[in-house]
Amino acid sequence: MIRDQFRRYADDRVVPNAHQWHLDDQLIPMEIITELAELGVFGLTIPEEFGGLGLSKASMVVVSEELSRGYIGVGSLGTRSEIAAELIIGGGTEAQKAQWLPALASGEILPTAVFTEPNTGSDLGSLRTRAVREGDEYSVTGNKTWITHAARTHVMTLLARTDPETSDYRGLSMFLAEKTPGTEAEPFPTAGMTGGEIEVLGYRGMKEYELGFDGFKVKAENLLGASRGRASNS
Ligand SMILES: Cc1cc2nc3c(=O)[nH]c(=O)nc-3n(C[C@H](O)[C@H](O)[C@H](O)COP(=O)(O)OP(=O)(O)OC[C@H]3O[C@@H](n4cnc5c(N)ncnc54)[C@H](O)[C@@H]3O)c2cc1C
Repeated sequence: MIRDQFRRYADDRVVPNAHQWHLDDQLIPMEIITELAELGVFGLTIPEEFGGLGLSKASMVVVSEELSRGYIGVGSLGTRSEIAAELIIGGGTEAQKAQWLPALASGEILPTAVFTEPNTGSDLGSLRTRAVREGDEYSVTGNKTWITHAARTHVMTLLARTDPETSDYRGLSMFLAEKTPGTEAEPFPTAGMTGGEIEVLGYRGMKEYELGFDGFKVKAENLLGASRGRASNS
């Protein structure tokens, strides 16, 4: 039973350390992330043909619940990969699926979800971060906030407005925006992107950040689904 497997893992590897991770306000150790990857946590619902376990959403819920019993940061770590994988499975091209899904499933690539803005939370359709096509790239400008695990990750599922004539969901597009993973000393080393930590009380282990994009570049081929204005389909 998957529930028993992850309950045992949480009891053995998470519970004994969780309180100290919390007090130290530290990132979940990479050793734990490697173990979770070996257990298949990052590819639970990704189809087997792309290196995942091909399980149901219900399995994802059970695994998140059992790991969260140990520490909520560990339990919600896998949900970041789940968000990215679902977007790619639902809205990506075949080439994007082949490129990204196996690396997400194996945990080689850790993603972060970059949607919320300082004035836009629930009503994502009104967000203002814009992406402008410049040759074979998009240039992104705007501000995001409350972004979990923004520093250490390799790719952002980044929601931005590509049609400046719109003010609702119809002008939005999703990008698979690559970045260089940060370190404690230099959390945001990628050009065109800055960030600052939002210190939180109860939800630790991945850290929350506000982000600023000023001419941040995304390869045009990393537009999800290869066509603009499809974010509402993803
Ligand atoms: C710890 C933490 C981690 C987060 N991580 C991420 C992340 O990784 N990536 C990311 O993109 N975002 C992240 N978020 C942001 C989160 O998704 C937003 O906080 C959320 O979408 C709500 O937006 P808001 O805070 O602007 O609240 P608002 O949208 O202003 O909502 C405030 C209140 O009004 C209610 N409300 C809003 N609209 C309506 C309506 N039409 N009818 C009735 N009630 C309504 C809401 O239910 C809520 O109670 C994180 C937030 C937190 C606190």
